[in-house]
Amino acid sequence: MVILRFAPSPTGYLHLGNVRTAVFNYLYSRKNNGKFILRIEDTDLQRSEKRFVEGIKKDLEWLGLKWDEIYFQSERFDIYKEYAQKLIEMGKAYYCTCTREEIYQRQKDNPNAKFGIKYDRKCRGRKEKPQTDYVIRFDIGEFDYIEFEDTVKGKVKVPFTDLDDFVIIKGDGSPTYNFAVVIDDHLMNITHVIRGEDHITNTAKQILIYNSLGFQIPKFVHLPLILNKDKSPLSKREGSTNIEYYRKEGFIPEGIINYLARLGWSYGDREIFTVQELIELFDIKDLNKSNAVFDDQKMLWVNSEHIRMLTPDKFLKYYKIFLLENNLEEELTEEFLIKAFEVYKTRVNTLKEFYNETRIYVPKEIEIDKEFNIENLIDETIKKCFKDLINSIDEILLKPDEEGETIIRSIPEKYGIKLKQFGPPLRIVLTNRKVSPGLVHVIKLLGKEKTVSRIKNFIQ
Ligand SMILES: [Zn+2]
Repeated sequence: MVILRFAPSPTGYLHLGNVRTAVFNYLYSRKNNGKFILRIEDTDLQRSEKRFVEGIKKDLEWLGLKWDEIYFQSERFDIYKEYAQKLIEMGKAYYCTCTREEIYQRQKDNPNAKFGIKYDRKCRGRKEKPQTDYVIRFDIGEFDYIEFEDTVKGKVKVPFTDLDDFVIIKGDGSPTYNFAVVIDDHLMNITHVIRGEDHITNTAKQILIYNSLGFQIPKFVHLPLILNKDKSPLSKREGSTNIEYYRKEGFIPEGIINYLARLGWSYGDREIFTVQELIELFDIKDLNKSNAVFDDQKMLWVNSEHIRMLTPDKFLKYYKIFLLENNLEEELTEEFLIKAFEVYKTRVNTLKEFYNETRIYVPKEIEIDKEFNIENLIDETIKKCFKDLINSIDEILLKPDEEGETIIRSIPEKYGIKLKQFGPPLRIVLTNRKVSPGLVHVIKLLGKEKTVSRIKNFIQ
């Protein structure tokens, strides 16, 4: 069985880069009817916080990336210690009592040091548990370079000089990242590790541990980086890449997942995929080698394409979350919102835009911006048209959209003027906007009372 995992650290909120990794792991596990494990890597007891764990779970649930099992590394310290002990007995790990200052000092005293700024292996071979503070280091042995096969990048070589006898158990008894990952990936039978290419050096260290313990090595899939347009890493962009931010801005899960899946993966020229289509079409062999460039405008467009695909139920579900996240009270009824969504779904990129656009339907009266110079647009003929519209309002509301539109069009004709003389002032009077859905849709959404009262203000 194919088993994949998403392994975030709860030291912050999920951002787009994390979620892209989660998306690829999720898609591949679902494609193969495998398992998708969520592993919370909370070994850093200082920096891990419960609110971030809750945030990660909330974001993944909202995105629909359902995990089959969840583990917390902080509950597994005994397991890591046991394997560290085993490595010590095998002569593959050792106790080290050197302090940071001592290592630094020895380095300074020996400018020709072979190991650069790294640990000089002074304690190598030490099997007896020290009475003072200690860490446990992994003995990486001697080699020129370590080589492994990456599904995306092909053969990857990491030179010996990039590595040293790294710590596997820290002074407080907690495991380091690379050690806990190997033990867990082994015990959880992970078959494929899909993660960012910034993990390459970690992968080399991890392979050394796999080999020492005689574990089977999973398939490694290193994703290309996501860059900003100026080529700086997306991860360096502050704040606005959090999933929470996008949820508040009115993006929807399908849009985010689709956009992220296309950052580093392609299927011909096709851009728009449902999640189900992604599960069917995604394959790790189609992952790109080159870095992906993040484009806010394109993400907005992809989101808009998914907005128009939403069913009324899904729309309401996401819209309620959007309101809650922004502490907004909605005065419009669900019944109204569904009708409005049908009219607006092809006109908005986000739920936030939908919210902003539909505010015109809330009050009885709206104020008209001065810049429209509405008085100049309304002459005696237009006033007559307005009156006729009020007289026809029941019929317009009763008839199907197309017939309603014909009635509206026929009004200016009667007075020998064009629709483009009547339409714009009517639109501004009703919506305080130059652009809006078709007038018949606006009138139907406003209803009789609001339509009539807004027009009446301009007849007197
Ligand atoms: Zn030492």
